Amino acid sequence: MTLKNDNDLRELIRKAALLNAVSHDGKAQAGALVGKILGEKAELRSCVKELSSVINDVVVEVNNLLPAEQRAIVEKNWPETQRKEKPEEKRLPPLPNADKYSQIVTRFSPNPDCVLHLGSARAILLSHEYARMYTGKFILRFEDTDPKVKKPALKFYDSIREDLKWLGCKVDEEFIQSDRLAIYYQYTEKLIGEGNAYVCTCSQEEFRKKALVKEPCPCRNLPAQEHLERWRCMLNGGYQEGQAVVRVKTDLNHPNPAIRDWPALRIIDTKKYPHPRVGSKYVVWPLYNLAAGLDDHLMGVTHIIRGKEHYTNMVRQKYMYQHLGWTYPDAIHYGRLKITGAALSKSKIVLGIKEGSFEDFDDPRLGTFAALRKRGITPEAIKKMIIEVGIKPNDVTLSWENLNSWNRKILDATSSRYFFVAEPIELRVLAVPKAFHTKLPLHPEKPENGFREYSVKPEGDEKAVSLWISGTDAQTMEINQPIRLIELFNIRIQTKADKSVTALFESESYEDVRKTKTQLIQWIQKDTEYLTEVVNQDASVTQGFAEAACKKLKPDAIIQFERFGFVHVTEVGPKLVVYYSQK
Ligand SMILES: [Zn+2]
Repeated sequence: MTLKNDNDLRELIRKAALLNAVSHDGKAQAGALVGKILGEKAELRSCVKELSSVINDVVVEVNNLLPAEQRAIVEKNWPETQRKEKPEEKRLPPLPNADKYSQIVTRFSPNPDCVLHLGSARAILLSHEYARMYTGKFILRFEDTDPKVKKPALKFYDSIREDLKWLGCKVDEEFIQSDRLAIYYQYTEKLIGEGNAYVCTCSQEEFRKKALVKEPCPCRNLPAQEHLERWRCMLNGGYQEGQAVVRVKTDLNHPNPAIRDWPALRIIDTKKYPHPRVGSKYVVWPLYNLAAGLDDHLMGVTHIIRGKEHYTNMVRQKYMYQHLGWTYPDAIHYGRLKITGAALSKSKIVLGIKEGSFEDFDDPRLGTFAALRKRGITPEAIKKMIIEVGIKPNDVTLSWENLNSWNRKILDATSSRYFFVAEPIELRVLAVPKAFHTKLPLHPEKPENGFREYSVKPEGDEKAVSLWISGTDAQTMEINQPIRLIELFNIRIQTKADKSVTALFESESYEDVRKTKTQLIQWIQKDTEYLTEVVNQDASVTQGFAEAACKKLKPDAIIQFERFGFVHVTEVGPKLVVYYSQK
């Protein structure tokens, strides 16, 4: 007996292939099966080639089934294989020194000079998640103290609030640094008065030369009184941009020259560069380390969770904390999160929009939250991915596929299914013996979600039925090939032209074609089609027809076009507009 005719073996392979397909998005992998079968039947090692050929046959047969059909067969015959122990929900590790504090307080502190993108997801979600885990407080702090180079814009304060809401992060308290300049001035004056900060009027170059050789600049050792006068002069507009800067004293021998007497406040000509919220009211503006450092203490932040590129800033700020007699919060520095293929640089995003190479901040090619939202990426998927990565200090590179696979699990369980044919071609089926009524579930595993129903009636002497099918399906068809129109009937192709295909009715039952490698395709009844535009991830547009039931969709729904992919509905009007999400 050859392996080909060994029915027991074939059944064994079929089971393995179906199980494999169910756990691999409907596509069984022949390679994985060879090893599996050999593991169970070692005697077949002498005829691997023949075995592979049988496996390939079975895999084609199994992969030809719809994922829902594969699952149904597996559930029916081997239900024990599908009782998965629920994988333990990944939890974050506990925060260091959490019991030291009566309330855990975390913060997310963006500069509102751009929309947020996936690169911020880690800071936002980890800070928020930890606040919730300890029933603590999550603060949103806008760090908008650079009206010149990293100039904030009013619309971004709102878009950031919106993004956080979309991500499911509830802000317990919000602060805006441009409202707090009086506070920063008050502490600066204290630092200067106590000889822990000074007003340096050296040029940057002069100061740098001294700092490099661990020497004080000529200003550093002047009496505090002199510096308080210089400080008042700064506030009163006595210095121009670049003429004076407040420095916080550190150890001049610190091995990193960039730490030595770091700059804390500088002058910005706000007549020329007005701030979008407070205009030209102030000319002295705090730099990052002064404002963030003071705020973290004053706002009671207990845990700072941020990228490790901020490590040096912690070292700088600790000098200021020492001067003020404060204790630095616990800081956790995680590694960079890179997403291959995503445009995540703020400057590139802003420039691309300005130059017109990106449509707007929600252009599907961008990694902004606005773009992800439009593309039907769910916030739950982003959250699951970030928590999975956790707070490791090493860099992590993820791909869109990582995010998509989280997203697929969520969408697959909830999205309604519909037919869509891209670049449609007309299919005329002749000799259809009777009218067919078909009832398609919106979700293969959830009949309670409802159905779409269509009646297909033959017309005229030819008993013809006219349908739309996708151009790609039509292209691969061959004369005399049998095809199954999903949940309708089986046909055999007769003629093929550029714009149309004709076929003959063959039989009704799916059982007739199940065992052969008959292709299953979706179809849309002619004259009921709904003109549809799919915006792809590269911003190109695919035209096609969706089935009539899509006219009842609500904007913002995420649905699956079968055999095409998940899409996010953005417009339900004279035409349907959807954004492509993923396979
Ligand atoms: Zn100086």
